[in-house]
Formats: sequence, structure tokens, C-alpha cells
Amino acid sequence: AKHLQSNLVSKVRVIVRVRPFLPYEIEAKDGNPITCVSLINPECGSGIEVSVHLKDQETSRNECYNLDSFFGQEGDTVSLIFHKEVSPLIPGIFLGCNATVFAYGATGSGKTHTMQGTDELPGLMPLSMSAVLSMCESTRSIAEISYYEVYMDRCYDLLEPKTREILVLDDKDGQIHLKGLSRVPVNSMTEFYQIFSCGIQRRKVAHTGLNDVSSRSHGVLVISVSSPGDNGSGVVVTGKLNLIDLAGNEDNRRTCNEGIRLQESAKINQSLFALSNVIYALNNNLPRVPYRESKLTRILQDSLGGTSRSLMVACLNPGEYQESVHTVSLAARSRQI
Ligand code: ADP
Ligand code: MG
Repeated sequence: AKHLQSNLVSKVRVIVRVRPFLPYEIEAKDGNPITCVSLINPECGSGIEVSVHLKDQETSRNECYNLDSFFGQEGDTVSLIFHKEVSPLIPGIFLGCNATVFAYGATGSGKTHTMQGTDELPGLMPLSMSAVLSMCESTRSIAEISYYEVYMDRCYDLLEPKTREILVLDDKDGQIHLKGLSRVPVNSMTEFYQIFSCGIQRRKVAHTGLNDVSSRSHGVLVISVSSPGDNGSGVVVTGKLNLIDLAGNEDNRRTCNEGIRLQESAKINQSLFALSNVIYALNNNLPRVPYRESKLTRILQDSLGGTSRSLMVACLNPGEYQESVHTVSLAARSRQI
């Protein structure tokens, strides 16, 4: 039955990215089995098939999963992912179709590296901004950004000098509004970096007394575009691209979390599970999409499903076998058609 449906386009593409070992990990891993994620079938139904197993060890189960694409070979840079997977979403934004890109995975799997990147290797966020800016020029459109985080089901603006909670409201037509969320115009990459790095800095220091909240909250960069309609009627078309560095999914049985960490962790897992349920419902044309099960999916209601296009990048740390299996299985489960 899977093969009969292979002509159905999945509305949320789910791809996997395995980061390389870091220099210090190469030294430390000597002799230890390493996780291998390999592409075993490049054409499997509507997608591909990858397997996750431990190298140098007889594992009785060689776990196989169906996904849309795989990036894990040397030379699979973030810019390759951008050109193949994200760049095709951008023209739609100028026609009023929203898009969302998620980085999903455990802490240390490369989500922030993939989304934000570094000065030398810009991630999907700056690469998208740059592509949007070039398209703005040729279409006489205007780009603005918002940047907020969702922590413990609360939403905070990161572009205000003082981090401020934003209320999520439903209006009469069932539209979602983030009340008072800042939108800052961006005309150049220099401007973008100025604004965005302030936001990143704020995210790091926002929750005083709590360590590293940034990897335990969802960070959402929104690039909004307003374009003049093409018939000269003066009607403005608006669309947006949400780029999300999701909170790290963790397995509580392994991390022995207590107190605030356990509460955070429960919220994170609940919201990631809700997201996976929404993606599953969309990809399988279920009559009811459970947007209301978490703050994040509620906020993203207008950017997931409908005419929107989305991408989930499941990030993997090659030194973590259980974690990788957990991430890939949830990713594959969301995609399953
Ligand atoms: P996460 O945001 O998922 O917790 P990070 O993005 O912080 O993970 O990545 C963990 C570490 O791995 C960082 O030191 C980061 O620089 C490094 N890293 C992640 N992905 C890559 C990659 N593709 N190439 C090189 N280093 C990477
Ligand atoms: Mg991170």
C-alpha cells in the first residue's frame, strides 16, 4: 500500500543530517563502537531508506527507517541542504504561502549549527535571509524579522531590549496572533546580523539562574515578506518563513532529571510529540490536525498545513546510538504515509 501512494507528495519533508565527529570525540571514541547511519535504499516508495546500527558490533536489529532524504556524507554541507531543501520553499513566500523549517534532535546533535551556523559556515537562518533579500530586490518586496523563544509553553520576544513575554491570542476568525511581537525591517545582511546576534545574546541570558535554557527552549526566527501584488491593484501579499531551532529532545529515563529540569523536559517532550502528531496528521490527510495540543503547534497553525510547505531536519550525533534511534524513529513516524 505504501508503494501505491508513492505519488502523494508529503507536505512536510523529513530529512536526516548526521554531523561529523568533532576532533575531541575522535580521540575519545577509540575502540568504542560508533553509530552508523547509512543510506541503504535511495529509492524506497516515495522516499529513501536509512539504517541505524552500531559499527564493530553484532547488533541483532538493524533498524531501518523511511525518510525523504539523507545528508551524512563528507561534503554534505549546510549550503547543500539549503540549496536542495530550503531554497525551493522561498519563492512561495512571495506568493503568500508560508513555510516552516525545523531542526529536531537531541542536545549536541547539531541543530544550532545547522540553523544558525557560525561566521565561517552560515546556517539555514542566514542563508534563507540572504536568499529572501535578493528576491526582495527583484520583486520590490519588504522583509522583516521577528525572533522569539518558547520556553515552558511561554513565548518571549528576543528583539526587545528587555525580554518580554508575548501572549498568544486567537481572534474571531480563528487566526493566531502573537500580541505585540516585534517585527524589525531588514534591508541587508549586515542589518540582519546586528539584529539577530542581539537576539541570540538575549536568549543566552534571558532566564537568570537557569543554565543553558537556549537548548531547552524552541528558538523561532520568522522572516516575513510583504510584496506588492502583481496586478498593480495595490494589494499587498504577505508570507513568512519560520526557522526553528527546536529544544533538544531527551530521554528522561537516561538523564535522571529532577525538579525544574524534569518539568522542562516533560514540556519539551510533550511539545515535540505534539509537533510530530501534527506532521503525521498533515502527511496522512487526517481529518483533524491536533494543533491545539501545544503552544508551539498552536502558534504555527498558519504555517503548517494548508498551502504551507515544511521541512524537518532530524539531526544526529554519530556517537550516540540510542539517541539517534530515538530521533530517527520519531522523525520517520511523523513522515509515515
Ligand atoms: P545542538 O544545537 O543540537 O545542541 P550544536 O549545534 O550545538 O548541537 O552542535 C554540537 C557541537 O557539534 C558544536 O560544537 C558544533 O559546533 C558541532 N557541530 C554540529 N554540527 C556540525 C557540523 N555539521 N560540522 C562540524 N561541527 C558541527
Ligand atoms: Mg543548540
